[in-house]
Amino acid sequence: MAPPGDKSEASEEAMVAEPEQRPISTIVIIIAMQTEALPVVNKLQLKEDPDSVFPPGVPWVRYYGTYKDLNINLIWPGKDPTLGVDSVGTVSSALVTYAAIQALKPDLIINAGTAGGFKAKGANIGDIFVVLDCAFHDRRIPIPVFDLYGIGLRKACETPNLVKELNLKVGKLSTGDSLDMTQQDEASIIANDATVKDMEGAAVAYVAELLKVPAIFIKAVTDLVDSDKPTAEEFLQNLAAVTAALDQAVELVIDFINGKRFSQL
Ligand code: SAH
Repeated sequence: MAPPGDKSEASEEAMVAEPEQRPISTIVIIIAMQTEALPVVNKLQLKEDPDSVFPPGVPWVRYYGTYKDLNINLIWPGKDPTLGVDSVGTVSSALVTYAAIQALKPDLIINAGTAGGFKAKGANIGDIFVVLDCAFHDRRIPIPVFDLYGIGLRKACETPNLVKELNLKVGKLSTGDSLDMTQQDEASIIANDATVKDMEGAAVAYVAELLKVPAIFIKAVTDLVDSDKPTAEEFLQNLAAVTAALDQAVELVIDFINGKRFSQL
């Protein structure tokens, strides 16, 4: 290794600035559902990529464009090839996060989407949350250390200035592959101290950490899990209004990030 202050090393450093030292430039936004994704695509005037960067035959869709000084890629896992519904959940979101990072080398991942909220923890319908950390609530492995692996707690990229300036709520996110909630899930969600519950966040966080890309999670509350209304009904009832709030929030977040370095978030 070259001694400290070695000239060639210093000049190399100046040429290839570390991501922390230069403004964020390439962003990958992961959104699970078409209803959530299309308003953002339209707002940021993104175009669908006709030459997929993904393997042939997969349903994953990339929308891309330049917005202010940013290269934006929005990845939607697409419709299930057999059943024709959105490919929601952890498996699809982990796969597209991996493939998008490999193909597009982003500086930052943003996972945006709807979520269930807990009114006991201060969530209301239509609230936008910036997630502090993500964990799983349906990976129970009661063996020492495997239990922690199952929970899979991961921190989100810290964004104190963004939260303050945009006046967003903050909370912890718990992820599982079901829209409903069993009693065991509920106990794990409480143990995770979560305010919001989704089906993708902790999976995106896992891949982002593996590949060392900072990740931000923006979650809009479509349903209150601890209310009397059935979740699926409440979710569908509020989906359109809440996705409108979500796409506004994503635009504000992108506007805030534009021109900034990680240390300024
Ligand atoms: N019937 C719906 C199913 C969507 S699945 C449809 O119209 O196709 C729910 C999606 O919204 C997932 O991507 C998940 O991340 C999010 N979500 C919203 N509320 C949720 C909740 N209470 N629990 C888990 N995920 C929720």
